[in-house]
Amino acid sequence: MGSIISSGNSYRKLTSEQRDFFDTIAIRAMSNGVGAPYIRSQLVSLYPIAVGDEMGEGFTFAVDKRGRVYIHFERVMELGIVWASGGLIHECYHILFEHFNRRQAEHSVEDFWAWATDMEINQNLPDESKAVMKQIYYPSTFGFKDGLRAEDYYDLLMEKFKDQQKKSGNKQKGQPQQGDGSGQPQQGQGQGQQGQPQQGQPGDGSGQPQQGQPGAGRGESGMDTPYENQLDNCGSAQHGGSDPKEASGREAPERSEMDHQYARSEVAKAIQNAADREGTNRSKGIGTTPNFVKEWAKNVLAPPKIRWQSVLRGEYAQTQRRAKMGRTHTNPRMPGRVQPVDDIMFPKRKAHRINVGIAFDSSGSNFDNLQYVLTEVNDIIRRGGVDNVYIFSVDANVKDVKRIRRVSEIEFVGGGGTDMRVAFTKLAEMKVDVGIVLTDNETPWPSEKPEGKTEFIVGGIVSFAGAEQYYDAIPDFLRKVKIDLTDK
Ligand SMILES: [Zn+2]
Repeated sequence: MGSIISSGNSYRKLTSEQRDFFDTIAIRAMSNGVGAPYIRSQLVSLYPIAVGDEMGEGFTFAVDKRGRVYIHFERVMELGIVWASGGLIHECYHILFEHFNRRQAEHSVEDFWAWATDMEINQNLPDESKAVMKQIYYPSTFGFKDGLRAEDYYDLLMEKFKDQQKKSGNKQKGQPQQGDGSGQPQQGQGQGQQGQPQQGQPGDGSGQPQQGQPGAGRGESGMDTPYENQLDNCGSAQHGGSDPKEASGREAPERSEMDHQYARSEVAKAIQNAADREGTNRSKGIGTTPNFVKEWAKNVLAPPKIRWQSVLRGEYAQTQRRAKMGRTHTNPRMPGRVQPVDDIMFPKRKAHRINVGIAFDSSGSNFDNLQYVLTEVNDIIRRGGVDNVYIFSVDANVKDVKRIRRVSEIEFVGGGGTDMRVAFTKLAEMKVDVGIVLTDNETPWPSEKPEGKTEFIVGGIVSFAGAEQYYDAIPDFLRKVKIDLTDK
């Protein structure tokens, strides 16, 4: 673990007192009962950096995407070991939950994004931390329920803000309270709330919690808040932007993307293990892992879902290459010597452009699915190197063959029985370079690879549970892609 301290733009070692304090809160943060033991892999890969008042009024903690955690030691030491340990856990979650990646253009109010991400985190803090971290924002602070994601809290804050504006607008003639940006709200009065904070009173969503009480903090957004947030700005891991006050790679050590992903999956595994143990010990009341993080871990560990479009794109690219090769070999204008970059010598030869035929199964199919699939398929093959695309429907017979540019030009007419063998025959006759057959797979198949130069791909649509058996019956000599629409 690096240990550095900032002074201007140069970083040096933490003082031994700071080092001891950091170790104490980190160990506490990974302890059973009082901490969140499963985030250990995240904690040990952090680089603590000591910072001072240059970070801003009331600054305590922040973290960047590269695992550097900025600590105003003087201030957090004053807040105490339990508070600081909770703060460290909080900063870990900003990285683990990847708030820096999740912020979209619509999350334009920086304060709201900051509070929304903090709410997502704080609902999961250990009880001991919650008990002392009274002046940070929880969902209940604003009357929201627990268990939601930052994106949801952001929307709720926007709604609430509009309500506030409407109300104060009525009283003060269109003068909603705008923040002065000084970050110095009515401190003295705010302290009065410390004894009885909003927490422990889960919000019922009624939208009339602490609001309107004296001592409200007011940030840049202009929204009234019940007290000043002691974790006001948690850095670039929270807001996703750049921050000139944060260290650069040259100034202080940083974690790589791989380090980040490794720590993230280790934490997810530890959470799942804890959840499994709790599952077997439930009767003894050991379960302390918040459901939200259990759900998060499940998602992190789930195998990445590969979209059928990507698979089809890959298969199509290979087929296209093979079709082009076939053409190159039979091209009479091709010189009889090795020519690795043929397009440079024959820019107009157009051997790199191919014709594609798409036959789709219109027999008793679900036309919504079909239209969606055709649009996507058309999109994939239009991305380059195609001269013509012909599309036609097949039930037991071939319908009109049309050259089309848009899927909306297609008329969908349902038919009777299904025999997609005629589709293969037709595509081979047309001598297209690539023939794509889209079907729900309930059809007889050719008994051998169709003759001719046409390369075939079967897009086998599986649209309901139980339809897999038809897909599995596609003969092996056909190149196939499963188009799974079961959870579309
Ligand atoms: Zn935060």
